[in-house]
Amino acid sequence: MNQQTLKNTYSFEGRGLHTGKPVRAKLCPAPADTGVVFVRTDLGGARVPALASNVRSTRRSTQLAVGRAKVGTVEHVLSALTGLGVDNAIVELDNVEMPILDGSARLYAEAIAADGLLDQGVPRKWIELKKEIIVRNEKKGAWIKVTPAGEPGIELTIDFPSPVLGKQTVNMAMGDSYVKSIAPCRTFCFLHEIMPQLMLGLIKGGDVNNAIVIVDKPVSRCRMRRMARILKKDVPEVLKPGFLAEGGLRFADECARHKLLDLIGDIRLCGGMPGFRIEAYKAGHTLNTAAAREILKNL
Ligand SMILES: [Zn+2]
Repeated sequence: MNQQTLKNTYSFEGRGLHTGKPVRAKLCPAPADTGVVFVRTDLGGARVPALASNVRSTRRSTQLAVGRAKVGTVEHVLSALTGLGVDNAIVELDNVEMPILDGSARLYAEAIAADGLLDQGVPRKWIELKKEIIVRNEKKGAWIKVTPAGEPGIELTIDFPSPVLGKQTVNMAMGDSYVKSIAPCRTFCFLHEIMPQLMLGLIKGGDVNNAIVIVDKPVSRCRMRRMARILKKDVPEVLKPGFLAEGGLRFADECARHKLLDLIGDIRLCGGMPGFRIEAYKAGHTLNTAAAREILKNL
């Protein structure tokens, strides 16, 4: 298998999920052995390689930084590039955070897949492990196990103490269609998390068009109106528990699939194409990137 890059450049425009800042992003082809590198065009072309050693923050999303050049919410574009088998790409952006788009990796994945990839005639260097790696968060009971394997694959389980979103397990093997089954799955949050996150200065670009909102318990009209005022957006007056998702859920287990999408993006920070097997339980960005860092250390 040879290294691959993009056949064309692809432009995307939108707002960052957390900063709410407008941003233009462009995915461009790159020479063999480049890997994935973010370039802040508004900061004189400052380069931020997609490596676990550059992780600056993992609060609700993965942020990379080199010096004062930060790049927020990198996981969805990294997931699309990895899911499609792109070894080398430059991701230009003119602000601090990647656009959230529809909350999934669908637009990236469909645009790239429509053209196919360019074979670069240089053998791919799979990231392979010599021994098993386990990272844990004892407090949350979360863990990720990475094992050397001939057939790379991922199994992920979410387990929320929620009557609406409980335990779900998803699998992805090599050759499964990332574009159809993983890329369209959107990010999500619980309604009761929205207020605390806004207070922390997060999800300024979030709304019901780019995230699934999970309503856990019945919500009063009065509280929904308050939320609508704070978000400066129309929030439907949902009164009963369920999923608040534009156009309905795309898959019954869309939330678990989105976590798998995130994991693929975060694990790419090990610096190349995963040639190993991953099992994850209740993992988020902090544990995902810790696993990527351990892999990078053990190469
Ligand atoms: Zn995500």
